[in-house]
Amino acid sequence: MDTVTLSNSNVFDYLNHPSPQTLGRSPLEWLEKLHKPTVVRVAGRDRSRTRAMATLLHGNEPSGLFALHRWLFEQHTPEVNMLFLLGGIYPAKIPPALSLRQLPEGRDLNRCFKEPFAGEEGAIAEAMLEELRKAEPECLLDIHNTSGTGPSFAVTITNDAAHQALTSLYTDRLIMTDLRLGALMEYSEQEVPTVTIECGGSQDEQAHQLAYEGLVRYASRPDVLSLQKADWDVAVLRNPIRVELAPEASIEYRLEPSGQADITLPPDIEHRNFGVVSPDEPLGWIGKRGLGVLSAISHNRTENMERVFRIKDGKIYPAQAIKAFMITTNPIIAKSDCLFYAVKATGDPIF
Ligand SMILES: [Zn+2]
Repeated sequence: MDTVTLSNSNVFDYLNHPSPQTLGRSPLEWLEKLHKPTVVRVAGRDRSRTRAMATLLHGNEPSGLFALHRWLFEQHTPEVNMLFLLGGIYPAKIPPALSLRQLPEGRDLNRCFKEPFAGEEGAIAEAMLEELRKAEPECLLDIHNTSGTGPSFAVTITNDAAHQALTSLYTDRLIMTDLRLGALMEYSEQEVPTVTIECGGSQDEQAHQLAYEGLVRYASRPDVLSLQKADWDVAVLRNPIRVELAPEASIEYRLEPSGQADITLPPDIEHRNFGVVSPDEPLGWIGKRGLGVLSAISHNRTENMERVFRIKDGKIYPAQAIKAFMITTNPIIAKSDCLFYAVKATGDPIF
């Protein structure tokens, strides 16, 4: 075995170039055999360089695990060394497998990549960072799924050619945020280009396929950090606001308002993801309590809602042309997380 520090060997299991037998025939069979967060290493043609990929930080986001299982099973030889970090094995294994984002009493692992690294998730995050420091990868991807269905996109804290090139291996939309939450993508601050990839919905076959095809490109290209002429044009959306619903407010997804809810959105509003909504297109209906049930958050600051939405005849219109994304039609997520994110139609921040 390679040398590993004692603390990390307590956190991780290590697999070097696992055989098809070790992997099992399906990702679920493999998951059954995994007992801890796991580091997988595969040597490349060029052994002087390494690329890293994390996935399953959220236990209910399987596209990255499915892609990795398939890629390993096919026994590819990558262009450079590959380092894979499977973070959320514990929540992923709780039956029914791949249904829990995090442990019932645990923390969101992708908020733990900052001091003080408290608790079990903090220890996993710190050990992942230690693996990255040792491996000195030339870049890092973190593969996720969105909660609803919807198109793929990438998220970064740095928007430059390298980050756009990494994005273009998977998708043509890049969200740039100045928010710091303790997410793994903040590893970009260590001068290692780092991008989060949201492959699409966790139940979408298309998302699993994208995760696999992206991994094949990531592992097989000699250079993944320069923009190639054949790559997609990447649209950059900067510093979106989060549109949140007040905790006590009610929401319905209906073709017409019942009159009972504080906000009503059409059931097919997910189709608006990443499309431009102009100021004369209604997004939904507002109840008797008006816009007070919504808030617009940018950089952890509450902003003036009047600059985002207008109300006319009980309908909600954007105050200017916007692009909305991560729109959910799940009322539980709408209340516990947010309704959607939005930028100006140009991709610039609203505030
Ligand atoms: Zn996630």
